[in-house]
This record gives sequence, C-alpha cells and structure tokens, in this order.
Amino acid sequence: MNTAERNRNPYANVDWQKVHRVQGSTHAHCQNADIFKSYIEQGMEFATFSNYYPSTPTWPIREIYENDSRLKQASYFRNRKFVDEELDFRKFFAEHGLDVSQLPTDRGERKYPDPPEGFMEAPNAEHAWFSDYNVYLHICSVGSMLTTNMDKKNAGLLKEYGFELGCPIPWREAFDLMLDKLIIPDGGGITINHPNWSHLPTKDICDMLDHDPRVLGIEVFSNDADESYSGQAEPVWDAVLSTGRQCFGFCVQDHLHNQWKGRSILLVDERTPEACLRAYREGRFYGAVLGKGLSFDFIHWDGENFHARCDRGGCLLQLMSKVGVAEEYFKSSEAHFTVKPEDRAKHGFLRLTAFCEATGEKLYAQPIMLD
Ligand SMILES: [Zn+2]
Repeated sequence: MNTAERNRNPYANVDWQKVHRVQGSTHAHCQNADIFKSYIEQGMEFATFSNYYPSTPTWPIREIYENDSRLKQASYFRNRKFVDEELDFRKFFAEHGLDVSQLPTDRGERKYPDPPEGFMEAPNAEHAWFSDYNVYLHICSVGSMLTTNMDKKNAGLLKEYGFELGCPIPWREAFDLMLDKLIIPDGGGITINHPNWSHLPTKDICDMLDHDPRVLGIEVFSNDADESYSGQAEPVWDAVLSTGRQCFGFCVQDHLHNQWKGRSILLVDERTPEACLRAYREGRFYGAVLGKGLSFDFIHWDGENFHARCDRGGCLLQLMSKVGVAEEYFKSSEAHFTVKPEDRAKHGFLRLTAFCEATGEKLYAQPIMLD
C-alpha cells in the first residue's frame, strides 16, 4: 500500500468563492429507467450507482442493456476463488450441456435513457456476503470496476457448478480487489454502509479503516435504512473519530422509493468525474439530506479557530468533538469556536452539523482532526 493517509483537514484547499458544488451519492441503486429519471429530476449531477446481483458497475450508463447481466460478467467467483476474466454464460451453458434457451439470445434494449448534457458518472457497486463476516456487511467501491456477486437467475441455474451469490472471500481480500480496480489512483475508495442497520461494532469499523486509507468512512445518514429506524449513525461516527482515526461521513439514499434523501455535495474546481472522485478521496464534500434549503458558505480552520457560515439564518448548528456537543448555535447562521492548544487533545476532532427547521435540510460537515 502506497497511499496517503485520509485527509485530516478536508476543507484546507477549498476556495469557497469559486468552487463548484456537485450533487452525488456513493450509495444509490438504479435498477431501471424510471429510477434513473427520478434521480436526474431530483438533481443528481454525478452518478456512482451501486447495484448488486451482480455487483457490477452501472457504467457508462449509455452502454448498459437490459440483458447484459444474464449474458456476461466481467469477473466472478467459482468454488470460492476469484476469477478475473469474463464469464460468457451462453458459452458456459453450451459447454456444459445446459439448456441455453434459459438465457436471453441478445442484449435487448438499452436500459436507461440518455443522460442530460454535462451529466457525470463513474463506476461503483455494492458488495456483500464476505466469507468472514455476517450478511450485514455491505460495502460500496466508489470509482472501482470490480464485479462480484451474480445475477440471481443465473446463480440459481449454475448452483451445482461452484457459483454462488455474494463475494465469498474474506473482506480484507475483497477490499484489496476493489481498490486494485479504481479507475484513477488518487480518487474514489470504499465506504462502509449503514453501520447502524448492520450493527457493526466500532472495533470492526476501525479495523476496516486501518486496513487501507482508501477506506474512506461510514454512512451517517442512510435514508432507506431509516425506514427501519436504523439509518442514523452520528454516535458511531463520533466514537470512531474519538479514537483519533479520520473517518468521512456519507449521506446516502440506498434504494430509492420516492424522494431522494441523502446526498454528497462535492466541492470541485472543475466539473469532471475525476475531480468528483478526488473530492470523495480527500473529504472535500459535505453531506446533505435534501440538497436544497441550506448550504455552507464556507468552513474554515486555521489551526486554532473554527469558523463556518450557512447561507441562511435561523438554523441550529452543532459542533461536535470528543466531548460530545462542544458548542451549539441556536437560531444562527454562523459557528465560531476557538481551540486553545491545551484543549486540542480534549476535543480530538471538530465536525459541524446544521439543521434548518423551515426547510427540513440538515448538513453534515466532514471532521477536522486536531492532532
Ligand atoms: Zn444498497
């Protein structure tokens, strides 16, 4: 591993006057054209769709056809071994005397409409069912071309041939495969999904972060998991940050039902997929539930003074550190906080949330590590 540490001061190089704000999500399933259109209508500008069955990149969107996953996949597991070559299902069926008529004859129609002008996208997928963990560990690989898992129908038909669903190797090996297949070396990475829904012990999250600095962080707001009252993970986040580890916090939708809640507002100098992936890597983004109704004008940290401002007043701002809520700002638009040198260890980190009751928007800034 030859990679820089996770960025401990994520907004240090952000020029808040000039920066472009791009709306994306590290964890969003998009199984059909209607969901795709809905995301576009609701403001998605940078897509990293995270599908599974198979867990393969839905990318580029123009080149995905209805039957693709039934016909071929880029890599696969057989007898619990990763095989990094294309599996042609029709060929495999023919070679093994299986009834090929169970498979589609061609790729079918294009699955998604043309994206709008300027739309950006990068690969991603959601991987799960690792051999050394329970089924609840779900991992997104933002910017990675890795394919695991399998189409459910194909897996059913091929059960006796050593194929199975999921990613049946230890999670560390799977993480390495994801990271090996990042499309750019300095962008993207791994997210640990819905830690509360998954009931992940803090120690396990720390082990995953320690495995590689390109394991970026955890989901702190997962809208779909919220339906079972387990979508929020701020206390887990603070517990991890209190160990001194940088850990970015992601707001995501997961499966879309109606309203898209859970976004990343990426802060980029240019509107390119590479710049967006680098923003994820460097923590140059903040989380937002709605993506409208409140934004950060700036977040500054000079090593002693924290200063942030929202674009509207009347908000509840909360500044968290190792001590819990270090300071709150009620009916306000600004947060000012000074950390004396002798208090740095006491606070450990600073991270801000802002909530606007009038619009329902809540923002989650990335943590600034103080040591
Ligand atoms: Zn998911």
